[in-house]
Amino acid sequence: MSERFQVADRVYQAGDLVGVLTTEPLGRVLDYRAPEGGCGDGDFVEVPLGPRRVLGVVWGPAVGGWDPAKVRPIGRVLDARPMRAELRAFLAKAADYTLTPLPSMLRLATRAPGLGEPASMRRVYRLAGAVPNTLTEARHRVVEALREFRGAPVTIGELAEAAECGASVVKGLVKLGVVVEEDAPRDAPYPRLRADVGMRLVGDQVEAGDALVADVARGGYAATLLKGVTGSGKTEVYLEAVAECLRSRKQALVLLPEIALTAEFLTRVEARFGAKPAEWHSGVTMTERRRLWRMVSEGGAELVVGARSALFLPFQDLGLIVVDEEHDTSYKQEDGVLYNARDMAVLRAAIAGCPVVLASATPSLETWANVEAGKYRRLDLGSRFGAAEMPEMRAIDMRSERLPSDRWISETLAAKVSAVVGRGEQALLFLNRRGFAPVTLCRACGHGVEGRMAAVGPGVERLAEEVAARFPEARVAVLSSDLFGSARALKEKIAEISGGGADIIIGTQIVAKGHNFPLLTLVGVIDADLGLQGSDLRAAERTFQLMRQVAGRAGRTAERKGEAWLQTHQPEHPVIRAILGGDEEAFWRAEAGERKAAGVPPYGRMAGIILSSTDVAEVFDFGGELARRCDPLKRIGAEVWGPAPAPIARVRGRHRVRLLVKAEKGAPLQAALAEWLAQFKLPRDLRLAVDIDPQSFL
Ligand code: ADP
Repeated sequence: MSERFQVADRVYQAGDLVGVLTTEPLGRVLDYRAPEGGCGDGDFVEVPLGPRRVLGVVWGPAVGGWDPAKVRPIGRVLDARPMRAELRAFLAKAADYTLTPLPSMLRLATRAPGLGEPASMRRVYRLAGAVPNTLTEARHRVVEALREFRGAPVTIGELAEAAECGASVVKGLVKLGVVVEEDAPRDAPYPRLRADVGMRLVGDQVEAGDALVADVARGGYAATLLKGVTGSGKTEVYLEAVAECLRSRKQALVLLPEIALTAEFLTRVEARFGAKPAEWHSGVTMTERRRLWRMVSEGGAELVVGARSALFLPFQDLGLIVVDEEHDTSYKQEDGVLYNARDMAVLRAAIAGCPVVLASATPSLETWANVEAGKYRRLDLGSRFGAAEMPEMRAIDMRSERLPSDRWISETLAAKVSAVVGRGEQALLFLNRRGFAPVTLCRACGHGVEGRMAAVGPGVERLAEEVAARFPEARVAVLSSDLFGSARALKEKIAEISGGGADIIIGTQIVAKGHNFPLLTLVGVIDADLGLQGSDLRAAERTFQLMRQVAGRAGRTAERKGEAWLQTHQPEHPVIRAILGGDEEAFWRAEAGERKAAGVPPYGRMAGIILSSTDVAEVFDFGGELARRCDPLKRIGAEVWGPAPAPIARVRGRHRVRLLVKAEKGAPLQAALAEWLAQFKLPRDLRLAVDIDPQSFL
């Protein structure tokens, strides 16, 4: 751990007063007496709290302020590796940064069941081998579920739930000999990974790979932006750094934005390292969560591939963090504890003293600015690996297409689609839709003026109807996150499309996330203008990233060169021009200039305050009160905007109101916010959330 963040590990004798942080929503660390046999900082403990026993971690010496005679003893020290000083320091820093109470941070770090229970055997199930093809529907679902679990230990309850059947169906399969029932240790280590064989890096991959490998070998904090178009070999390069990490007997963490992506990724890791890594996300069973949590803390897991909450795992010796697709907005947790996993990954790496790699084809402006400021190193991968090229990108000027207001596909685009489908290739029609209120544009001039207004941005359903009417022979697949209840259904659909199961794909942002469709050679962006408008400060950036990524979906293979067509009413808009011209640096410089001038992130700081209540008058009154009594904010030169109704004004019967605080870059924003909010007592029904560095303004 780097010295800046040093936290001592003290040892306490039986009867000593110690401070314990629990996962209960209490304002402070509570004092207890060390139990028989003593305890140490970081020990996981069970402590009495009122009539209950709750989970906690020994956080340091007692806080005091109580009658020492009344302090109760710790119930017991749990049989788990103590939380390391590095993780405690990380939780404390992250809590300070996000203005989150420490108990909520501790909950993020203890999201595995039965942490205190000793390792034991449990009955688990796996496929025996050959599967007869005469199984009943329910039995077939069990087999499918077992395949999904990919050999991870699964209990009968978990299996029955995943297959939506009764336990008797599983038992029936055991009798048939299709499924094996066996006792397995609850916390088996993950198979060891083989770090010796990789692909031979070529071109600028070599230099990038060497630099990252050297960072890992040296140890210590270093932040790198690994930038390169889709297919340029970023994954291949950072897997080299992972390999070096394994060779140094340290642990690596790779964060991915989407569960839907992990299957493809895991297969690739398996091919590279000879076994699957440990997997951590919301789709993982409780049994597997506990195993992973324990193995990470005991060194029985070398590589974790996970969603953002994997950042809070108790690594024993973290040697590398990779944040893939670092610009992805899903890294921002928008529920509960509001944190940005990309930024927290950098913080954890700084505290753990290990390198962090942020990989992207289209980095966030925040990361770009950190490179400009000399805080991050930048490694560029140039052309795509092999012969595949970036598709050609062109604008379709919608002002001259004269489409009726109920149609979205221009004649120009329709002709392209027909040609591609006629050749047996795939076309993707992309809707740049985020659920914002539709932007209204004048169809004649492309600007928001009176007269001839048309709502831009149809829904997926309307576009699908138009496609069906125009291309009656084509097989159409719709890919949109809100159409799929489960990650599994989405994965299946993606696999089906990759295999050629559709001619025309209609997709929203979900398709811009790195799926590989080999037959796809045409991308038509239906509404390239939408993201350029509105109050979201990152709208231009997102539009830029999305367009480039979605265009990058086309023509990933060497034989087929792709093309991308952007339907726009503003072909001369600087963002559209930068996308088409491929002049990325020009785009970033222009966008950075605009944000600097406006004093907004990353050149200024912001915090959102979201209030909600069932009582509409109360929520506005309280918001008004917050805005009036804001001296602590004024003292640091910050401005307060609002209260204003949130764009999503009601959620589950609660009225939502927002305030926005804006400060200069160096201002001590968190301290001022804390002092400001401490002046108020919240009405009972009112909820207040602070969103530091907001991404969403909904
Ligand atoms: P990115 O992460 O930038 O999208 P990938 O690492 O996924 O790029 O590389 C794209 C494809 O090219 C993958 O199929 C990968 O296996 C292959 N590839 C990349 N670099 C090499 C290499 N040096 N040798 C062989 N294949 C490579």
